[in-house]
Amino acid sequence: MQSEEVMATGGYGPDFEHIMPKYRIVDALRAGHDSFETQCDTYAAFRLSKNLTVFTGEAQYGNWPELLIWNAALSTIPMTEEGNVIYYSDYNMYGAAKENRADGWTCCTGTRPLLMMEIPRLIYFHSNKALYIDQFIPSRVRFSACGKNACLVQKTEFPAKDTIRFFVEIQGGVSTFSLKWRMPSWLEKKLSLRILDVEGKDITQRFDISVDDQGWLCACGAWPEKSTAYLTLPQALSLKLLDPMKKGPAAFMHGPIALAASYTGPQTPNDAMDLLRILPEMIPDPENPLHFHVRGRDDILFKPFFEYREHEKYFIYHDTCAHRTDRFAK
Ligand SMILES: [Zn+2]
Repeated sequence: MQSEEVMATGGYGPDFEHIMPKYRIVDALRAGHDSFETQCDTYAAFRLSKNLTVFTGEAQYGNWPELLIWNAALSTIPMTEEGNVIYYSDYNMYGAAKENRADGWTCCTGTRPLLMMEIPRLIYFHSNKALYIDQFIPSRVRFSACGKNACLVQKTEFPAKDTIRFFVEIQGGVSTFSLKWRMPSWLEKKLSLRILDVEGKDITQRFDISVDDQGWLCACGAWPEKSTAYLTLPQALSLKLLDPMKKGPAAFMHGPIALAASYTGPQTPNDAMDLLRILPEMIPDPENPLHFHVRGRDDILFKPFFEYREHEKYFIYHDTCAHRTDRFAK
């Protein structure tokens, strides 16, 4: 499912929610604007992934909902009082925009609040001896740390910044248990973890840090009454090819965030530049996190898909398998 059907955003089932061979997904991204039935199908993936995490204990099942939180749930424009909501996300390779469906009170109007309410249930999981941190979202959780009341506060500007702080407080002093973090599938460089006590002294060495059999990064040890863990997850630009054999269609990501291109040149960005080779030419905008210019071009800007407003035109998938890219060779 993940390698054959799921697109860079986490979305799936273009052309009226069909599961189909890759060449037909490519055709659907060329011809159609019904690229992903956003609300209902995100809700389904959230529920499936949550249950797989609970039943198997495996960290990998948090990767798909992470994509969908950012690129579907939080990339939706506001619904109207008449029940109009984004039904299909539009990934059409010849230009797309976010539009609410013209008729109100569809299935997706009903699932929209359900899936938003599901997000807090995806952040943490708990066992007798461990708290599992699955999603990187500002939040607070109260839990039992081996019989003691405990509280963890997650403070973060992720995905704008790579470092996430976790304030841990145990009522009544030290408790021995594990904090476990999902190591995201998009990590390209090594993560780092530091644990400081209330006075700012580094106490990381006092913990047994390892990766467990189910793929979680674990810090096991005696947690003092108050401490702070700093987790840094280096995000990087990447190019995702839907069909690697055919070198396309292509989408650009930064960590888990899908980047869509705002473009003012003729036709599509794919007609104007060799998108398969622009990664090294993409430079961050110093003013706006997760915005990237392309060196030598003022007609294109990549920014997070979640930032696009209603009716604002974007290119999120690029038809790099439609044309030979060597036409740009000098
Ligand atoms: Zn629906």
